Parts: sequence; structure tokens; C-alpha cells
Amino acid sequence: MRGVDVMLLEKGDFCSGSSGGNHGLLHSGARYAVKDPESAKECVSESRILKGIAWNCIEDTGGMFVSVGKDDPGFADVFHDACKATGVRAARSTAKELHQVERNLSDDVADGFLVDDAVIDPFRLVLTNIEDARRHGATVRNHCEVVSFERSDGHIGEVKFKDQRNGSVGSVVPEVVVNAAGSSSGSIASMVGGNLAMTRDYGTLVVFSGKLVSGTVNRLRPPSDGDIIVPSHTSMIAGTTSRSISGPSDARPTIEDKELIIKEVSEMVPALRGARAIRAYGASRPLASGSSGRGASRTFKLIDHEEGGVDNLISIIGGKLTTYRMMAERTSDAVCAKLGVRANCTTGEEVMEASRLDEAVTLVSASQSESMRRRYGHVPSEMMNVVPVGSMGVQSCSCENVMRFELEHYASSEDVITIADLMRRTRAGMGYCQGTGCMWEMASALSDEGDIDLLIRDFVRERREGSSTVIEGDQLRQEMFRSHLLWPFQAARGGEER
Ligand SMILES: Cc1cc2nc3c(=O)[nH]c(=O)nc-3n(C[C@H](O)[C@H](O)[C@H](O)COP(=O)(O)OP(=O)(O)OC[C@H]3O[C@@H](n4cnc5c(N)ncnc54)[C@H](O)[C@@H]3O)c2cc1C
Repeated sequence: MRGVDVMLLEKGDFCSGSSGGNHGLLHSGARYAVKDPESAKECVSESRILKGIAWNCIEDTGGMFVSVGKDDPGFADVFHDACKATGVRAARSTAKELHQVERNLSDDVADGFLVDDAVIDPFRLVLTNIEDARRHGATVRNHCEVVSFERSDGHIGEVKFKDQRNGSVGSVVPEVVVNAAGSSSGSIASMVGGNLAMTRDYGTLVVFSGKLVSGTVNRLRPPSDGDIIVPSHTSMIAGTTSRSISGPSDARPTIEDKELIIKEVSEMVPALRGARAIRAYGASRPLASGSSGRGASRTFKLIDHEEGGVDNLISIIGGKLTTYRMMAERTSDAVCAKLGVRANCTTGEEVMEASRLDEAVTLVSASQSESMRRRYGHVPSEMMNVVPVGSMGVQSCSCENVMRFELEHYASSEDVITIADLMRRTRAGMGYCQGTGCMWEMASALSDEGDIDLLIRDFVRERREGSSTVIEGDQLRQEMFRSHLLWPFQAARGGEER
């Protein structure tokens, strides 16, 4: 958009890092108003901007902060003052008013505030950015891992990357390199001799089937474990935790995390105890400061490594999903300053291309059209190009109501090589059966991608990791059912034991 040639290299799929492992809460700023006012102010302005430029990724549900029986009654005034000071809109409300908005709230809710929180679909947001960047001429490649840099005289002369599709190694000669590798930013900087102090802080989230809340519900107390529940498509996501970790091997949800989240969140929404947990997942927060966990600020840091001896490397770390656009603006300002480019950033004003509404597609029924609108924000007309005559009505994923032509549309993209890639784009496989039925459909849509056995095995392994901490009751029956369905497949290939 500023006339600079840009290439993005992503080692996994887009959104396979923390940006796909979060709560999906578009923060109004209220959560940070008391302890982290700078971050709160960033959220106020960015959440307003995103509701305009990325409207197709956002459900403007509203949200609330509630105090429950034993909570400190004095905190409400502190919270209210902090919201006023940071520009966060917060309307004080009685328990009765809050119950009128959320009927599943606990009878122990004393009072609280209505705020402008919203729900953002992180996968859609990232894909919308990718699509928009491509339309502006960027080269964007997933499954391409940066493996080394050639540096001489304090300057990066070449970046080498490995394409996971075929193992080939490519290279690019950059003028400036931006290190935006989330929790791996420290390792990337050290590959070129740069230094980056970062904290890895892991958070767990639990997904439940169905919805008991219509907007976000937060606990009215300083940020702590298990104090948020967010509605998301056909499910709800409760979280989170904050645990310092040393490396990727500790980065997984534990049964203790899950139980803590259910105990705490059900103090606000008691019916959660009876809801069906279908999956737990998590991610590490790439925090900027030296302090760890809840004490660390959620604002971001831009580091020009020139002082550290690398004149064309910039790192951007910390922040929130909510503030990603502001982080990108500051980063591209720094890049443009190095390149002598004077054009201004306009991402705050221009609606992203993929967020513009396509013409109504008459081929789909009203209910399909509505479910696609909820999933994608609009009905992409180009999707219809892959629809073979007569196949409009074939449903591939009944949990999420995904049609065969949606799978075929995304399967034909060069970005999509695994079943999980297809799932992130369509939501097929994200429902309560976790792909038991539709993974076969997804594999067949991807049949050009080679080894179907491998595709299925990788997907089943990934889904099982997510369900292992929540597996009880109905979800245990579901998992047994899946095992029985898989057994002939595995046995026919001389594979794993039942
Ligand atoms: C549990 C949890 C809940 C959260 N909830 C929210 C929320 O509700 N709202 C909110 O606004 N924020 C939330 N956040 C914060 C938010 O998710 C993160 O701040 C944000 O997603 C970080 O984005 P990032 O681009 O810096 O990192 P990432 O999304 O992790 O992106 C970095 C990317 O770099 C890639 N990469 C790494 N090494 C290489 C390499 N060698 N070559 C190429 N690519 C590489 C990775 O694969 C990854 O995709 C939450 C965070 C956590 C952990």
C-alpha cells in the first residue's frame, strides 16, 4: 500500500502460531484499564478501527464485566475510574440489567459493567489480511520456514527458506528484514547475532459445544486465571491461564489448567459445568518485557537492531491480536524510514478488499447463505467457480454446516496442503465430532496433495492432542466412536493397534 515490495514467509500455515491459538476477544480495553493503561488505550482505538476495516471477521456482540459474591466490592470504582481515564466505554449496570442481557449468569452476580468487547475470528482476520496484501502486490508464502541468514558487515545480505511442500531451499535478497515470529522472535534474532529479551507465557483455553453466552463475559477483578468466556460460531471458549514455560515441550494444556478454568468460569456461568468440553488448546504469549505472566504489559515493542550491530533487521514483539494493525503500522513506518519511502500508512482507513461485500449469490439457499455469511462474513462469489453442476446441496461437515463446494474451493488453493489448513479456512472439523465424519471429505477434496494416509494420520494426531485433556462423558463416547471408525482404515494399512 506504500509502494514497497514485500514478501512474507510463514513456516506453518497462516495462523498456526499464537494468532490462531487465542480467545478471539476483540478487546474494548476494559481488561487492561486498571493495570495496563497504555495497552487499554491501544485496544480502544484499534478495536474501533477493526470493526470498520475488517467487519467480516467480527461479531459485534458486546460484553460485560461481572463481580461475583466474594469479589472485592471496592474494585468496581477503581475499574470505573480507570476506564474513564483510558477512554474505555463502560456502563455501570445492576445484576438485574446484566441478567437481562445474559440469562445464564450466576445468581451470585452482584453488579458489573457493559462494555464494547466483541468477538473476532482470528483465522478469518489473518486470511483477510493475506488476501488484501496479495491484492496490493505482496508475495505471501506459507509452509516456508526461514532457516538461515547470510550476514556480513552488520548487514543481512540473504534470507534462506525451506519450502515444506518439496523440501527445496529458496532465497531472497532483502533490503530490510522484519522479524515478526511471535514466540520464536528471540531465536530468529539470535540466528543473525541479534539479541531479544522475551518471556514465553503459556495460556490454555477450553472449547465447549453450544453457547451459554451471547457476548463476552469477564470477571470484574484484576486479570487472573479463568476469568473470560467468549461465544464463537457454534461454540464458546473459556480461559485462560498464565504459566511461564521454558520451551515448546511445556507448551500444552494440562488437566489442571482445564479444571481451574471450568471452576473459575462457572462461578460466573454455572451451567458451564454441564456443558460439553470438546477440546483444549493454547499458545504462548510473545511478551515483550522482562517481567512474566499477568504482571507483564500487553503493549508491544519495536526493536531496531542497528544499535546491536545489524543495520537492516527490525523485530516486533508483544502486543495483542487486537492491536496487530497498529503494530504493523509502526513497523512499516520504521521500514519506510530506512528505505526513504515517504508515503503514509492508510491501513486504518481502507476497508480490506476481502471485507467488501460480494454480490448476493443466488445459487445457495437462504440458510446456507446465512451460515456462510456467519463463517466468512460474506458469500465469496468466486467460490462458485468450483461448483460442479448439481453438487450445491452436498453437505460435508454437519457440525458446522460446511458444504462440499466450500472444501473444493479452498482445497484448490496453493496455500492448502493439509487437512488442518482446510479446517482453518472452512471450520469443517472444528465442531463437537472434531472431524470424525468430515475428515474423509476433506482428505478426498485434497486428493491431489498426495499421501491421503499421511493427511488423515496427521489430522487425527492433532485432534487427539486437543481432546486428550477434556476426554470424559459424551466426548469420550465420541472419541471411542471415532476410534472404531478409524480401526478398519488403520488395519487395512497394517497400522496402529485399535
Ligand atoms: C492463550 C492466549 C489467549 C489470547 N487471547 C487473546 C485475545 O482474546 N485477544 C487478543 O487480542 N489477543 C489475545 N492473545 C494475544 C495474541 O494471540 C498474540 O499477541 C498474537 O496472536 C501474537 O501474534 P504474533 O504474530 O506476534 O505471533 P504468532 O501468531 O505466533 O505468529 C508468529 C508466526 O511466526 C512463524 N514463524 C516462527 N518461526 C518462523 C520461521 N523460522 N520462519 C517462518 N515463520 C516462522 C510462526 O509459525 C507463527 O505463525 C492471546 C494469547 C494467548 C497465548
